[in-house]
Amino acid sequence: MPIYDFECSCGNKDVDVYDSPVETERICPVCKTGMRRLLPLIHISPDLEPYLDENLDSLPVYVSSRRQLRDELKKRRLVQIG
Ligand SMILES: [Zn+2]
Repeated sequence: MPIYDFECSCGNKDVDVYDSPVETERICPVCKTGMRRLLPLIHISPDLEPYLDENLDSLPVYVSSRRQLRDELKKRRLVQIG
């Protein structure tokens, strides 16, 4: 499960909480109102390092970004697993 931070309008914060990706309501233990879930920062990652992909096609394909990899997969009607 992803880790989230929660913030309340009273200033109380609850950090590093394991929670379902489907947003659930979290009640602030201080003021008993609903807390706001902040976007998980751990899902932000840098673009991939350029590499030669030998599994995409009969000839190796030079892949230099995630967007390009997505496009190359789409062109070949392939789906990335894992
Ligand atoms: Zn509160």
